[in-house]
Formats: sequence, structure tokens, C-alpha cells
Amino acid sequence: MNQKSTLLVRYGEIGLKGGNRPAFERALCANLKSALGPLPGLITLRRRGRILVEADVDLKAHIARAAQVFGVTSLSPADKLYLDAEAIKKRAAELVQESLQQHFAGREQVTFRITVNRGNKAFPKTSLQLTLELADLVLPANPSLKVQLKGAELTLEVDIREEEALVFARRHAGPAGLPVGSMGRGLTLLSGGIDSPVAAWMMMKRGMRMEFVSFYSFPHTGPQSREKIIRLAEELGQWQPRTVLHMVPFAAYQEAIRDTCPEPYRTVLYRRAMQRIASLVAARRKCRALVTGESLGQVASQTMQNMAVIEEASRIPVLRPLIGMDKTEAITMARNIGTYKLSTLPAPDCCTVFQPESPIIFGRLEDALKAEEALDIETLTFQAVKGAEKLELPEEE
Ligand code: ATP
Ligand code: MG
Repeated sequence: MNQKSTLLVRYGEIGLKGGNRPAFERALCANLKSALGPLPGLITLRRRGRILVEADVDLKAHIARAAQVFGVTSLSPADKLYLDAEAIKKRAAELVQESLQQHFAGREQVTFRITVNRGNKAFPKTSLQLTLELADLVLPANPSLKVQLKGAELTLEVDIREEEALVFARRHAGPAGLPVGSMGRGLTLLSGGIDSPVAAWMMMKRGMRMEFVSFYSFPHTGPQSREKIIRLAEELGQWQPRTVLHMVPFAAYQEAIRDTCPEPYRTVLYRRAMQRIASLVAARRKCRALVTGESLGQVASQTMQNMAVIEEASRIPVLRPLIGMDKTEAITMARNIGTYKLSTLPAPDCCTVFQPESPIIFGRLEDALKAEEALDIETLTFQAVKGAEKLELPEEE
């Protein structure tokens, strides 16, 4: 039909969104373009329940990028053809042969099925007729094919649609979820640990465009901590169009807490300070929620009591997608999304600076507020926000 290469993109949940559907589809198209682009002739076409991505270069080489676009449930490199049975059959037969050569070379037997979908009832052949004609063409020519309707290794699919026919033989899994940006913007408190990158990813998957804020304690922590955070934010940035990371100097605040507040409360007070500063950054950047990697009971600062004391310092909702997850589950996810290796690089986090011998486990808000009376919170907070550095990732070379 044309010289362009075509990717058939399926989406799940956004198909359910009633009147919002066009907006979700537009967001998905924009994100697909941004993930794949710039490529010559790159366009997206909206079809009922599907999106077609087209370009003047072979899109098969770019599938891995498209498979990182939230909202996509699966993808198939497809051939787009006129609604002409002979042309469809010819191309389908070639495609089966190519697939056998590329993916099943040397195999004596490959289980096979044909699935024809006729969405366009004006097409002169029924699904069954076309299926049988395709089988007559393909099976005698490829003796290794053994028909098996359930769990076939190779499925030749033909979609007869209003506008065109699509022929394809492979499905690649997408990450599912909702298009990034369709659910507003969030701000993840990104540490160099395993959990907060996973938390960010989970909320991005639910449609949040994510910005990051990270606190560092120079000179108590060195440049490798900064490098690690930038690399983590860049890795997570693969899942959305653009990424902003705010690096906030935190040493002065920590020193003031160390010098004037009761030692057991240090960690809780660091965290309150982080949420206070992060809410201000969020307000400036129109982020509607903070996201953290906290999980109930994982460490002393993550009891219900302490989390309540910490959260009180935030002006906006604090989301903790890992709250009910075990550490092993978080580790498995970190491996799957590609952040685990970076997270386990050695580099100190600012929370370990002046760490108390025995941190408070069941903190009380009155005590935290009392301790903070000794701090010049306004100045410390203002200075941290003022010292924040805004990085747009990936950084220019
Ligand atoms: P993580 O693996 O994400 O570091 P953790 O289990 O080590 O989590 P903590 O170190 O207690 O937990 O931190 C709890 C949460 O506080 C983190 O998930 C993160 O969202 C936030 N946080 C901690 N340290 C920092 C930091 N230096 N900068 C930004 N956010 C931080
Ligand atoms: Mg940590």
C-alpha cells in the first residue's frame, strides 16, 4: 500500500475511558512519537481501538523504545495493504516464510495457526473463507508447519479493517498502564536506594509525568552520589518524554538539625525537612503529589507513627506505592525495570550523615514540632530551595 514501515500498537485500559478516550489516545500518540523520534516521516494514525505508527525507516529496529511507552499493551510490526484478497494472501505467504527463516531456522516442526479478524463486513470473503485460502497457500509450501490452535509458536494474523488490511506474525509485550502525562504530574523524592526508583516507575505507569528531587549533603557525601542520582533519573527518563531533576543542597539543614535537635529525632526531622522543601518545589513545578519509596516497617523511619509525623510537613498528598510490598518484591521490580544495577552501586545517601545511634521508632508530632522550634526553618528551607539546581535530562554532552 505504501513504502512506509508500520507498527500496530494495541492499548488496554485507555480504551475504557469513555468520553476521555480521545485525550488519552492523543497522549499515547504523542508519547509514542517522542519515544521513537525523531525519525523521517514519523506519523501516528488513530484507528478504532488501535494506533498505527508509521515511518520511512524500518520500525522493527525501534520496537524496544516503543515497548517503554506506558499505555501500550502490545505491538506488532505489520504490513498495511489494500483490501484486496490476492495481495493479502501473497504478502501473508511471504511473511510466514520470513518468520520461519528469522525465528525458527533449522526447526523440523513449528506449531502454527492463522487468525483472521474481519472488522470490515463489506470485505467479500468471510474470515473462515480467507483462513482456509491462506492455509491452502501456506501449509503445502512449508512442511514444517503443524497446525495447533492453542499456544501456537507462530501465528499469522490478518486484520481486515475499514481502511486497510494488516498482516503480521509477531506480538511484543508493552508495559500496559496509562500514558505518561494523562494523570498530571508528580515529584518523586529520589534517593540512591532501590525503592524510590521503583516507586517513581509505578506512578509513571499510572499516567503521572514524573519529576525528581534529590537531596545531597556535600561535602559529607561526594560527587559519586550525585552521578548515581543523575544516572538513575536518566534511566527512569527512558519511560517518559522529558525528565527534570532537582538537586537540593541539604548539608546546612542537616548540620542545624544535628547541632540543635535531640539525636533520636534526627532521621524523622531530615525527612520532614525533605517533604517541606519538596512541597515547595512541587508547587513551583505544578506537581500535585510527592512520591516516596517508603514501605511499612522496612526501617525505623517507616512505622505508621513516623510516616504520619513526616507527612505532616508536606502540603500535598504523599503517595507511597511500595507501602505494602516486601523488599524482595521491590528488588524483583527494580531488576525488571532496569534500575537495580544503578541502585546497588556504592555511594552514600545523605540520610546516613550524622545518623543517630538509636533513632526514634514511634515518633510523636508534638515532640518533632518542639524540636523544630530550635531551627530557623524559614531560612533553612528558603536557602535549600534557592540552592536547588534544575537539570534537564539527558544532559547535553
Ligand atoms: P530507598 O531505597 O528509596 O532509598 P529506603 O528503603 O532506603 O528507600 P529510606 O532511605 O528510609 O528508605 O528513605 C525513604 C524514602 O525517602 C525514600 O524512598 C525516598 O523517597 C526518600 N529519600 C530518602 N533519602 C533521600 C534523598 N537523599 N533524596 C531524596 N529523597 C530521599
Ligand atoms: Mg535509602
